[in-house]
Amino acid sequence: LFVTFEGGDGGGKSTQIPLLEKWLRSESSPFAGAEVTVTKEPGGSPLGAQIRELILHSDHVSDRCEALLYAADRAHHVETVVRPALESGGIVVGDRYLDSSVAYQGAGRALDPSDVYELSMWATQGLLPHVTFLLDVTPEALAERREKASLDRLEREGIEFHEAVRAAFLDLARRDPERWIVIGASRSIDDVHAEITQRLADWVRV
Ligand code: C5P
Repeated sequence: LFVTFEGGDGGGKSTQIPLLEKWLRSESSPFAGAEVTVTKEPGGSPLGAQIRELILHSDHVSDRCEALLYAADRAHHVETVVRPALESGGIVVGDRYLDSSVAYQGAGRALDPSDVYELSMWATQGLLPHVTFLLDVTPEALAERREKASLDRLEREGIEFHEAVRAAFLDLARRDPERWIVIGASRSIDDVHAEITQRLADWVRV
């Protein structure tokens, strides 16, 4: 089972993923006993960590170069981490995957989203997640979180950028409702966690 988390910055992915991991490993989950691998992009492999540094800490990366670096990170990550874990029957939980590229490099950076998608499909030899959670936060709730937590990451781009990225994620989710589960993430941590586990348990039963 390959599960990914997507959404803009400040949506709570890094809070929710460890909670989900704990639940997956607990006796009460329908997945008890399965090998769980939690990973992230960019930077889910040692080479990927170097690529992440290049992307996030270079003074200037051109749009196409950025898209290719994310795709390179993903290709290596899938081949060395994700596929081996899935092939041995485990559960992989990914913090961001190809949809982040479509939303950020596509909508955010004005590259053609379908080119970005095809690039990722080539890079991963067509590996798509079974389930993708979109942690969706309204711009108002995001502004509030930004003030409270002084999330530096959110300051780099303007509000229009974050709104374009949010719209792109919602559009991707609308187009493929079989794979996507949209979670209103402007609520409490406990409520969001409860909905994620409930929806995942329902998904397995179907
Ligand atoms: O999720 P995380 O904080 O690790 O992501 C690091 C940054 O990289 C995020 O701020 C996100 O805006 C950006 N990113 C991106 N394109 C991707 C993945 C992440 O622009 N494909």
